[in-house]
Amino acid sequence: MVRPRDTASIDAEFRDVGLEPLDAFATPADERRCRCMRCGTVRWVRLGVIRAGGIACRWCHGWTKAREFEARARPGPAARGSLGTSADSLARLCLKNLAPLTEVGDLYHPVGVVCLACGETLVTIPERGWGCDRCAQASKRAALADAERVYRENGLELVRPCRGERVPQKVRCMSCGVERRVSLDDLKRGSAPLCWTCTHGIRPDEPHRVYLFHFPSLGVMKVGLTHDRHDRRLFQHMAEGGQFVDSVVVPDRESARRLERLLKARYQSWLTADIGPKDFPQGGWTEAWSDIAPLPDLAAEAKAALCTVGT
Ligand SMILES: [Zn+2]
Ligand SMILES: [Zn+2]
Ligand SMILES: [Zn+2]
Repeated sequence: MVRPRDTASIDAEFRDVGLEPLDAFATPADERRCRCMRCGTVRWVRLGVIRAGGIACRWCHGWTKAREFEARARPGPAARGSLGTSADSLARLCLKNLAPLTEVGDLYHPVGVVCLACGETLVTIPERGWGCDRCAQASKRAALADAERVYRENGLELVRPCRGERVPQKVRCMSCGVERRVSLDDLKRGSAPLCWTCTHGIRPDEPHRVYLFHFPSLGVMKVGLTHDRHDRRLFQHMAEGGQFVDSVVVPDRESARRLERLLKARYQSWLTADIGPKDFPQGGWTEAWSDIAPLPDLAAEAKAALCTVGT
């Protein structure tokens, strides 16, 4: 269906979802100031959001959502006597830069608030810490708009426009031309892995080895990955007191990372906070879990990790 572009029919689209336009229409991606015909509050809503079936009025929608949440969540803490006080609630709102517009009760009592940063009105449950979505979306858009510059400053070129902050994006190394996946978030925190082709002459499309090491003195099992050309990394772990347990060779670096992610997810509940940089000076303490966990079958896990994505 061709979308009509004339002002009258666009205004009708706003009215159909209960919004009275206050300002002229610009583009579907721009916020338009409107008044909610149900609650009377001023909203900033994009036509794109309406067409995608998004929320027209966060105040009206917020009360419905918050009351449903309250009905489900209140009985437990009420029975334990841990509902909190209105002072607790106020402190939580303050943390999120929100000021109350309606009565403030215990932590599970919904409160209508105004965002002190952008003026949006919304409904929150202090215990949940729901903040301003309008601000969250604005900062996400700003981050994505700035993504190309951030990647470039790190010597990387986006293959396609950046679609999310935490999703690894396909990028090309501007020095060696090799493609790999790096998330904007990792890049900003400085935790994105270096280009292996530039630093070690290793291509991401050559076989890599995923290995398991046991560190009896630390009581941890560690997963790691290395390319399959030499075993320097493995000798390093032995020198640090590690015992080699098992390893499996996978077709490329991306597969190795996928297997490593799968194992970390699988052993999430055994990940240990007791070890840190002092135990693994070369890095990698986030890939270690308690050795009381059952031992993984690496070959089977590799099959699972690689089959699920059809490689
Ligand atoms: Zn409303
Ligand atoms: Zn806001
Ligand atoms: Zn490179």
